[in-house]
Amino acid sequence: MIVMKFGGTSVGSTEAIGATAAIVAQKVAEQAKTTRPGVVVVTSAMSGVTNALIDSAQAAALGDETPYREARSSLLVKHQMVCGQLIEDGVERAALGRLFDSRLREFERLCRSIAVLGELTERGMDVVSGMGERLSAPLLAAVLRANGVRAQFIDAGELIITDDTYGSASPLMEQTFARCIDRLLPMVQSGVVPVITGFVAATEKGIPTTLGRGGSDYSGAIIGAALDVDEIQIWTDVDGVLTADPRIVKNARCLEELTYEEVAELAFYGAKVLHPKTVTPAIEKKIPVRVLNTFNPSHPGTRIVESTPNRPLGVKAITAIKDMQMITVAGRGMMGVPGIAARTFGAVARQSANVLMISQSSSEQSICFVVPGKEGPRVVQSLQAEFERELKQHLIENIHSQNEIVIVAVVGTGMKGVPGIAARVFNALGTHNINVIAIAQGASEANISLVVIRAEADKAVQAIHDAFELGIGD
Ligand code: ADP
Ligand code: ASP
Ligand code: MG
Repeated sequence: MIVMKFGGTSVGSTEAIGATAAIVAQKVAEQAKTTRPGVVVVTSAMSGVTNALIDSAQAAALGDETPYREARSSLLVKHQMVCGQLIEDGVERAALGRLFDSRLREFERLCRSIAVLGELTERGMDVVSGMGERLSAPLLAAVLRANGVRAQFIDAGELIITDDTYGSASPLMEQTFARCIDRLLPMVQSGVVPVITGFVAATEKGIPTTLGRGGSDYSGAIIGAALDVDEIQIWTDVDGVLTADPRIVKNARCLEELTYEEVAELAFYGAKVLHPKTVTPAIEKKIPVRVLNTFNPSHPGTRIVESTPNRPLGVKAITAIKDMQMITVAGRGMMGVPGIAARTFGAVARQSANVLMISQSSSEQSICFVVPGKEGPRVVQSLQAEFERELKQHLIENIHSQNEIVIVAVVGTGMKGVPGIAARVFNALGTHNINVIAIAQGASEANISLVVIRAEADKAVQAIHDAFELGIGD
């Protein structure tokens, strides 16, 4: 039994949906020959749709009603077109047409009320942003049926139960697993392929939530872990996980294998190919995750497992996360004063800010850390309030922040205990005159992260990629 998750580009056009349907049909046939057959499909929205939905709702909140009206008709056309080209059965087509129309009417109603209120809550946003999957999944199910696969659409709101952290909800695993098993297993065992909305979920009370941008990967993994599948497949538009973002590094190479830990580090530090939480559900049950290319399906892709053979020096891949802000709390009066770090991070935590990297100089005269740019101003304010007295007394000289910085992360579990990695990184950056603003090593030693200015980030990624010869195969 396998889960196959298809990303936005894999369902982004008539041709892509056609290719996806052929891949699923083939896997269903292959699975039928195994001892525990079954295919479960999870899909994203058609590419660009989630952005269009979000942009329209945001514009509505500012009083601009044109974008949602235009989005309603363009989204209707976009989905109808695929339906018209890939589904011959008139009854299926008519049913889908009605479904698209009613969903998009709901979208329009929601946006209208957002415009009237002039306010967009996180809860309202989750209803709007999840509509794309609620259009694409029934469409894909119908296309699969047109290709002879016994497919049935299921809304993940019935399966994935989360808390009410709208915009980035956390699943309640026990209930979610129970629901997946109850609802999906009998279907799969009777030879039906469930086609499930990625990204979306619901609270216990049935209020729609989402798992965060790019969250369909996570949906696939949650469902895969619940059903204890043999493999969780993430079908996307590149051959697998590459040694670096192919948009930055032209000679980035597809990795045959990676560990869960490595892929989690890469995703956390911005490698968009997988949502950062994707591997968590797979780890406990040791389910292999495979990243595959819908547009090159014969390529074996990247297999993500518990452990893999090491490369010399242990570095596997480089990634970068942009739009960060570095905040420094500095002052001579901090030296030897206990509790400064605790108070600093207490103030950060009160803003629920996400700290991506911490570095303290050994002289204890400064603590610096990195948060997403949009969280920076709140954090600085909170720190100024926390250290008001120390700032007045000049025990803390200043709380300084630097915008538009990038964290570059060098990732590989095999780096543990290998000397000279940091030296090689610095050497590569020095040769290219790239200034390193801060550096930190994760406790697991699976990553070294450094901060550079935005203008130098791509050059830094390429330079480190070259220094470790990552473009050259084993
Ligand atoms: P999907 O819609 O299938 O979920 P995404 O756009 O979310 O696809 O993720 C795939 C994209 O991630 C690729 O097209 C590639 O540009 C980008 N990417 C960034 N870093 C990497 C990497 N290290 N390996 C592979 N792809 C990467
Ligand atoms: N459609 C959602 C997004 O664009 C989820 C996903 O694609 O994984 O963020
Ligand atoms: Mg994605």
